[in-house]
Amino acid sequence: MASLIRGSWGGVGCWGRAGSRLEAALFPAGRCLRLQVAEIGSTSSGDKDPGNKREVLRTSVAIVGGGPTGVTLSLLLSSFGIRNVVLERKARVSNHPQAHFINTRTMEIFRQIGRLEERVRAKSPPMSEWRSFRYCEGVLGHTFGKIDHFEEYEGEESRDLSPTVVAHLSQNRLLPLMHEELEKCPSSTFLWGEEFLGLAPARDGVRMTTRSCRGEDRIVEADYLVGADGAHSLVREAVGIQMKGDGHMQSIMNVHFTSRALASSLKSEASEAMLYFVYNPSVVGVIVAHSIETGDFVAQIPFFPPVESVSKYTEEHCSNLLLSAIRRKVDLEIHNIKPWTMSALVADDFRRDRVFLAGDSAHLFPPAGGFGMNTGVQDAHNLAWKIAYVLRGSACPSILHTYSRERRKIAIKNTCLSIANFEETVKVARAFGLDPGLASGVLKVISQATKISPLQQPLERFGESLLTLGKLQTSSLSPLRPFQQMYLQGLLTQERSLRLLYPEEDIGFCYEDPDIEWSGSKFPKWPKARRSNFSPKIRTGCRFPHLELRLHCNAGAATLPQQDGVSIIDLIGEHKGSFLMLVLANSGRGKEFRSAVRDLQEESQFAVTTVFVNSNPGGAMEPGELLVDADLSHLEPQSDVAIVLRPDGHVARIFKLPIDLSSECLQRELLSLGLKPREKEHRNFEL
Ligand SMILES: Cc1cc2nc3c(=O)[nH]c(=O)nc-3n(C[C@H](O)[C@H](O)[C@H](O)COP(=O)(O)OP(=O)(O)OC[C@H]3O[C@@H](n4cnc5c(N)ncnc54)[C@H](O)[C@@H]3O)c2cc1C
Repeated sequence: MASLIRGSWGGVGCWGRAGSRLEAALFPAGRCLRLQVAEIGSTSSGDKDPGNKREVLRTSVAIVGGGPTGVTLSLLLSSFGIRNVVLERKARVSNHPQAHFINTRTMEIFRQIGRLEERVRAKSPPMSEWRSFRYCEGVLGHTFGKIDHFEEYEGEESRDLSPTVVAHLSQNRLLPLMHEELEKCPSSTFLWGEEFLGLAPARDGVRMTTRSCRGEDRIVEADYLVGADGAHSLVREAVGIQMKGDGHMQSIMNVHFTSRALASSLKSEASEAMLYFVYNPSVVGVIVAHSIETGDFVAQIPFFPPVESVSKYTEEHCSNLLLSAIRRKVDLEIHNIKPWTMSALVADDFRRDRVFLAGDSAHLFPPAGGFGMNTGVQDAHNLAWKIAYVLRGSACPSILHTYSRERRKIAIKNTCLSIANFEETVKVARAFGLDPGLASGVLKVISQATKISPLQQPLERFGESLLTLGKLQTSSLSPLRPFQQMYLQGLLTQERSLRLLYPEEDIGFCYEDPDIEWSGSKFPKWPKARRSNFSPKIRTGCRFPHLELRLHCNAGAATLPQQDGVSIIDLIGEHKGSFLMLVLANSGRGKEFRSAVRDLQEESQFAVTTVFVNSNPGGAMEPGELLVDADLSHLEPQSDVAIVLRPDGHVARIFKLPIDLSSECLQRELLSLGLKPREKEHRNFEL
């Protein structure tokens, strides 16, 4: 079981437990438990720092930040048996819902983490509640248009692409499920209320200083450090990596509220949707329905500082705005009101020596399209196996260089896509004569002028009047209303508005695609057609497409069918301790390949499992060999090839089997992928 230490940030009422239910009972909430580092099960010792008498915690990987990125990384490292410590400065999971859309690739990754995918699916509301977006005058008011995102992806078609499908579960409900999985991981230690303060000089590895919620300073030493510490990453700052792009696209006021009355009206009127884009003379904004069951909503309302000040958004003002956005008097409770800056930023590099950045610390996009959290989880998936293989001696440290190159490329792409998505929402606003870009421009001029103090108040009032005037164009009494409605219908029916499903970017992204050219300032326009028909391919750098396999197992001297309908995505996950080498050849070539692999593995053991596809090379399978049947015809693979798959499911190499296949030739291929013959003490490494 993972060790878990909890404490409230700010030094009051700390409490904790180190691993067991018994300890939780002995030290209930509110009671102080002195934290002994030596108690933390998965770390190596509780030595003292000689000069300062600070406790020293040693681990293989230190992760700063216990958001979705940090926790995913911890879970995945633990699945490789790699000791890791997560330092999280908060005392508990925040109750702000934040991200909520979980894409297919993230769900595939969750399938590799205990029963996480199954549990996320079970907690996710029924799809009828979130399958559409509504464009409306008010959540319970007139609807201008509605888009159902699943109309064309329903049924078998999406099942052909993956063993799983997308889900809708807010971050504050997802994280507790992840923590439950974490508690089952003996290699993970999660420290609540522990803040990373900075890096300290180190001869080998990484050394950092931290402070607990009780004000105790500590030294943490690790082989590697991963900064998953969000938008304002201190780890990023400590290693001097810059973020580039647009740091201020729009100011947004986030209002988290619950209203069971609103939820039950939506249900009884069959008007459920994931997002409500609201346009009326009093308020323009987006209402996110996080959970109809619990009545959890977040309103995202654009605001324009300095013409509008944060202090204007009092609970009373927000309550009035919400009622205007709902268009009906309902009971509601506001939980918090937080300004938020929408930006489009990507870090110059995702790695400096032994320090990596992942998630929001490395990239920030507009939320349109829901790529924020998903990209972070997928960063963790790319990084976990690389660190694990290097620490286990199965791969050379050079493999770690590929992390920044691969993930930064995807971050830049997802940023461009998210900006394009945001612009789609702006197009709809323009249908109502609202132009946030223009508003920002005018207000920028006003804000310059307001620096001259005698002009300040009149100009601020002028700015506010402009905003009100803009919103008036959304009035149902506007003479332009019929034209607005026609234009909007055009946008919605021509599928030119914001989408929810992006199969190509979700599961079709490719690490070998050419980089998008970006100088570090304005992001280039999203280069692709709005809607492309995605058909998966076997291509170097891409995720190997989902296939249903018939898996054979040994029965005496033969190998017989054992299990039908196993997805290759899951097979890769189950065998993540080794690369899979799919052999597509007739049984004669398969036999030659098998003997070359055996010769090679006898002298130097690489972390590789050979998978013979549709052709038995003869006799029963040996350890390190699998036999499967699969229909690959739609993927049009070449024959007489070996396809090498990495533990994250991406194709590392496709190589034609030469006529004179030898173990030397195979060795060259594997070494060039960064794999290393395992050292003797690691030869029995089984997951
Ligand atoms: C208000 C809001 C609304 C959002 N809505 C959406 C949405 O609708 N859809 C979407 O896809 N994305 C949304 N996002 C973005 C999404 O939530 C993030 O992309 C996602 O949370 C990133 O996860 P992460 O783990 O990388 O970072 P975070 O979730 O930010 O986690 C970082 C963690 O690091 C901890 N930390 C920071 N500094 C330190 C330190 N020095 N020491 C120890 N711990 C530290 C923090 O306490 C935090 O728990 C939203 C974000 C915000 C703020």
